[in-house]
Amino acid sequence: MERVIIIGSGPAGLTAAIYAARANLAPLVLAGGLYGGQLMLTTEVENYPGFPEGIMGPDLMMKFREQAERFGARIVNADVSAVEFDAKPLVVRTLDERYEAKTVIVATGASARWLDVPGEEMLRGRGVSTCATCDGAFFRDKHIVVAGGGDSAMEEALFLTRFGRKVTVIHRREALRASKIMADRAMAHPKIDFLWNTVVEAVLGDPVMTGLRLHNRVDGSRYDFDADALFVAIGHTPNTALFEGVLDLNAAGYIDSPDGTSTNVEGVFVAGDVNDVRYKQAITAAGAGCRAAMDAEKYLEAMEFAVASR
Ligand code: NAP
Repeated sequence: MERVIIIGSGPAGLTAAIYAARANLAPLVLAGGLYGGQLMLTTEVENYPGFPEGIMGPDLMMKFREQAERFGARIVNADVSAVEFDAKPLVVRTLDERYEAKTVIVATGASARWLDVPGEEMLRGRGVSTCATCDGAFFRDKHIVVAGGGDSAMEEALFLTRFGRKVTVIHRREALRASKIMADRAMAHPKIDFLWNTVVEAVLGDPVMTGLRLHNRVDGSRYDFDADALFVAIGHTPNTALFEGVLDLNAAGYIDSPDGTSTNVEGVFVAGDVNDVRYKQAITAAGAGCRAAMDAEKYLEAMEFAVASR
């Protein structure tokens, strides 16, 4: 019987692991086949405190992981396939194993959203991507499009200027959602231009992307636009499929928590982007992981004390 199982290995999951390990709980982290969370798919992280020069996302996550392991966290790179939270002990299954636990911390994060337009899925990996770090280098001297108007879109566009001869940001409104510093940087970049009030209606090309079908929402025009790559950066969806019907979700699909760590199931805690509609930062996820581990520890203490004094 595990005392703490942590599902997820982004900043929330691994910070929970560091705190739980340092509380001598020997946590088991089910890290997922693609461990490390969204920072594994990002480039330079400039806003994580303690790294004044910035740090690459994957390097930061390796440091989190090393720190958790140093204190005795056990990390298994397996995907969770099912959970059974209707009775105690709590049960977490992977394809190969069945684990029992007194507490579970859910830190499954969120995943990049797609536009869901014709051609997008067929051309994934052949021009269409959500990860500039992974795929940007394939488009040297090409015309690259980034869809979205938030910080992620600005970050992707700026990063892609290292490769593309030109980067066009396509945004559905005429005002960016991005923070001023990121927006100013992108707008000032000589390789970046913007198409406002414009949506992508289809991705064109076969077998590789050659362009986009665009729709201008102000003048109503529809036209084909030549481009070699499309990076979709339109936000994220929380990874909650495992918990539907098991944990309470809010209207936006995030795991509901009245106090930021507990869920509707006693002994099951939540941390990070899977519960965070608003902030979604590595540092807020890490803080949430710390809180969830401390609350899980308190819960275990009370539970084990009650059993011992029976
Ligand atoms: P976001 O802030 O939610 O922005 C998503 C953008 O995509 C918005 O501009 C939105 O348009 C657009 N969009 C959403 N659905 C769309 C659709 N179906 N079709 C076309 N456009 C669509 O998401 P994010 O940029 O991923 O950022 C998430 C959080 O992470 C934010 O808090 C951000 O500050 C943070 N972040 C920070 C950094 C950094 O500091 N370096 C980097 C990346 C992310 P509307 O504006 O019209 O809604």
